[in-house]
Amino acid sequence: VSRFEGITMAPPDPILGVSEAFKADTNEMKLNLGVGAYRTEELQPYVLNVVKKAENLMLERGENKEYLPIEGLAAFNIVTAELLFGAANSVIQQQRVATVQGLSGTGSLRLAAALIERYFPGAKVIMSSPTWGNHKNILNDAGVPWSEYRYYDPKTVGLDFDGMISDIKAAPEGSFVLLHGCAHNPTGIDPTPEQWEKIADVIQEKNHIPFFDVAYQGFASGSLDADASSVRSFVARGMELLVAQSYSKNLGLYAERIGAINVVCSSADAAERVKSQLKRLARPMYSNPPIHGARIVANVVGNPALFSEWKAEMELMAGRIKNVRQKLYDSLSAKDKSGKDWSFILKQIGMFSFTGLNKAQSDNMTNKWHVYMTKDGRVSLAGLSSAKCEYLADAIIDSYH
Ligand code: PMP
Repeated sequence: VSRFEGITMAPPDPILGVSEAFKADTNEMKLNLGVGAYRTEELQPYVLNVVKKAENLMLERGENKEYLPIEGLAAFNIVTAELLFGAANSVIQQQRVATVQGLSGTGSLRLAAALIERYFPGAKVIMSSPTWGNHKNILNDAGVPWSEYRYYDPKTVGLDFDGMISDIKAAPEGSFVLLHGCAHNPTGIDPTPEQWEKIADVIQEKNHIPFFDVAYQGFASGSLDADASSVRSFVARGMELLVAQSYSKNLGLYAERIGAINVVCSSADAAERVKSQLKRLARPMYSNPPIHGARIVANVVGNPALFSEWKAEMELMAGRIKNVRQKLYDSLSAKDKSGKDWSFILKQIGMFSFTGLNKAQSDNMTNKWHVYMTKDGRVSLAGLSSAKCEYLADAIIDSYH
């Protein structure tokens, strides 16, 4: 008998498990709209040209593979903070940001959670309902208590703004408010600039601390600056806050695990102390981060020619997604005779669309139509081609009614 007899089977991951089921399906029409990974119009994975160019530069230089410092590659940490806040931002000029390279968005959030657990004992993180499923796992494993604030309104397939505001108000003073900087996952529903200001007002009123997750900068709208505007408007108010960043989507560096945690502090002195503690938390977890992705980002963002080429490629990716979003809406509106208003699809932003399909309807999408998606009704438009929009519309209409 095994010493591991007491270990029960873990459930499959609700997002990554979808890809496993997709692989096993032999139907020709099958479509993987589960995981949020960009595909070309031919539904193939895509490596950005700027990434290949940066890698060639790295090969030519013959750089070594020595350990990085605990906080990561210095050149990366500088450009990543500048990209997020803007190089001219006073928080950068005054060295009030503690930036530590992380293991992509997930690892950076995990480090932030460890900081909260250690230095804000008992403080709660409040997150949107729904949110990216891994947020809860990350906080649970870090031992940080959390609860949810209202966000999604199924009646309008839109934002429940009043519910959101009153729940943030009702949270214990000094809570951390987890916010998606842009392209909310899974709903694709973002607050308007005016709504962001009101959110900032109540957070300040209640002495809460904003905790941004920015996993889609530049990928949501096609503009790096526009997608950072929520974070920057909070920073402009002089608020202290946390921001986790990821280069999985906007540079297509999924498997390189490259991102960062940034803590904006009210003084350079506080930032230095926070950074020292982030390093202390990272050391026993993974010692130091990987170098390859950090070098790619530093080369792309730090080189004017590659930087502008990156922006063009990002616009192309964001544009392709906007295009299939429009085409899906057109197909749904043309084919559906029930009079249902599908315009919520056009109001959503980023790589995901929340269809409003419930679990049973999502099951029908997969079982009958071979469309693989998460059971909350989310589809990744990054995995959809124009050629398959009509097929997807047929599947959605059949599953709805
Ligand atoms: N946050 C959100 C909201 C996400 O959607 C993702 C990617 N699915 C991440 C964080 C982190 O992804 P990664 O660890 O690959 O950077």
